[in-house]
Amino acid sequence: MQTCTRCLYTSRHPLNLTFDADGVCSGCRVHEEKDALDWRARGDKLGRILEGYRNNIGSNYDCVIPVSGARDSYFIVHTVKNVYGMNPLLVTYNKHFNTDVGVRNLANLRMRMNCDIMTLTVNPVTVKNITRHTMRRMGSMYWHCIAGQTVYPVQVAVKFKIPLIIWGAHQGVDQVGMYSHLDEVEMTRKYRKEHDLMGYEAEDIVDDFDGISEQDVAPYRYPENRELERVGVRGIYLNNYIRWDSRTQHEKMIRDYGYETAPQTRTFDTYHDVDCWNYSDVHDYTKYLKHGYGKVTDHVCREIRLRRMTRHEGQMLVQHYGAVPPRNLSLFLKWMGMTENAFHYILDQHRSAAFWQRNALWDWEPTAAVTNSKAGRPCLEQALATEAPHRDYILTPSGQSTDASNAYILIGKGVTA
Ligand SMILES: [Zn+2]
Repeated sequence: MQTCTRCLYTSRHPLNLTFDADGVCSGCRVHEEKDALDWRARGDKLGRILEGYRNNIGSNYDCVIPVSGARDSYFIVHTVKNVYGMNPLLVTYNKHFNTDVGVRNLANLRMRMNCDIMTLTVNPVTVKNITRHTMRRMGSMYWHCIAGQTVYPVQVAVKFKIPLIIWGAHQGVDQVGMYSHLDEVEMTRKYRKEHDLMGYEAEDIVDDFDGISEQDVAPYRYPENRELERVGVRGIYLNNYIRWDSRTQHEKMIRDYGYETAPQTRTFDTYHDVDCWNYSDVHDYTKYLKHGYGKVTDHVCREIRLRRMTRHEGQMLVQHYGAVPPRNLSLFLKWMGMTENAFHYILDQHRSAAFWQRNALWDWEPTAAVTNSKAGRPCLEQALATEAPHRDYILTPSGQSTDASNAYILIGKGVTA
């Protein structure tokens, strides 16, 4: 297993990193473009693209923006609406694993940005059936979230004839360097299926055993090509036009709009995914069992590339957070109606043989590929022995409303200032 000589990604990364003669990964090479490209000119180019979609007669929205109660949502809406002056329709897929911080962040986003929003909430019975199925089939309890949040905006764009969808960062560019910023890669059904959905689209998970019908998967179905072509739907990524630095961006959003942060179980970054009980917890732990690394490695690689962290510091953080067990597992099991034994039995089928082996006592232990790796070896003893370091990430006070007045509630009371 090869580890990048600059960041901590390895040749086992599921998004197919490549390495050059100096042992530097494709993600780090494409990252170099962040310091080389003329971002002012690229921002102007974005302006010209957006101008082409502006609805000057006011008969419709200018674009669709997928949002959540976390993860770059504030920055994307701020940029599109307040910097470029567009009139977006916000859309959000209810992932069912909402934290109170996420509910408040979304309420606050609607109020502070003064935007219309559409929400899709799929019935909980279907969501649980799908989750049971995808856990068993692909070891993922998060498929429905990813499927829903990547397709609901496309369905809305088709239905309301709004051709432009604006996303934040494309992981294939920002994380692994599959494409250059100059490729200006756009949203495709193929990338969604192969990389976001682990090869399974909605129609692939119709299943009698788990009681999932054609009708149940309709909310997750990608529109037909002819429907997309009729409206001319395209999805662009802001990180091809704006020098992407999510930490700095989030800190601006905390200052300017009161974005709320929270500690995360399996990473030091307190800004991402604060809206979800599972993303940096049960879901990330399953990713660690399947792929031998978790969110902390993504955040460490990002910080190393932006020169805010040394490789050694990164290795220490991976060692600390990489093996932290989930804290919210009992919540998930209660929601699913699943025992802990069943959960571990299912996940054991999906453990990667490259990273895990049974020892003489039939317990799981890391393979030599992990213990010899330079990518930072997750260590449970280390995680349990030391306090989780936060590396100066801002922890905002809780935005819980103290307003006891009997006023209308717009899906969760946010901060009204
Ligand atoms: Zn690298």
